Amino acid sequence: MYPGSFDPVTYGHLDLIYRGSKLFDKLYIAIAINSKKQGFFTIEERKEMLEEVTKAIDNVEVVVCDKLTAQFAHELKATAILRGLRAVTDFEYEMQMASTNNILYPSVETVFVMTRTEYSFLSSSVVKEIARYGGDISPFVPPVVRKRLYDKFNIKY
Ligand code: ADP
Repeated sequence: MYPGSFDPVTYGHLDLIYRGSKLFDKLYIAIAINSKKQGFFTIEERKEMLEEVTKAIDNVEVVVCDKLTAQFAHELKATAILRGLRAVTDFEYEMQMASTNNILYPSVETVFVMTRTEYSFLSSSVVKEIARYGGDISPFVPPVVRKRLYDKFNIKY
């Protein structure tokens, strides 16, 4: 299971999804509902975008996670939680999460995949910031996501 906010999905996430879909028989992409963060796109919008950009990958299914990530993975009978590591800055938080989840649900492993260098700087927040000012986001997100972002910000393109 690959959990995240996906607000919105970027080429960095997609790279991990492609790679995860080859590592595992089945890959659930779990959109995590964060009670502390409002989010930019609604959960439904994020789900629609994820489904659109992954429709060509047979063994991927997009689901919404409204509970603890590890508990949800356990209930889905997922063998592993897939996470991306972009830089050392990701490491501390990820290590904390993985260790905690391992105590709560020892049967669920956390598997880390290193980001490809060209996406190592890429985050949904950076993309939103560029889009807000009408910058070119085509190197970072698929066309369907680009359209939704510009529409939200009322940017003509
Ligand atoms: P979260 O709020 O859980 O960090 P994100 O949607 O930002 O949600 O990220 C979900 C997962 O995708 C995380 O494991 C993150 O490291 C990974 N990820 C995010 N951006 C990239 C990227 N550019 N390249 C590879 N992995 C990424």
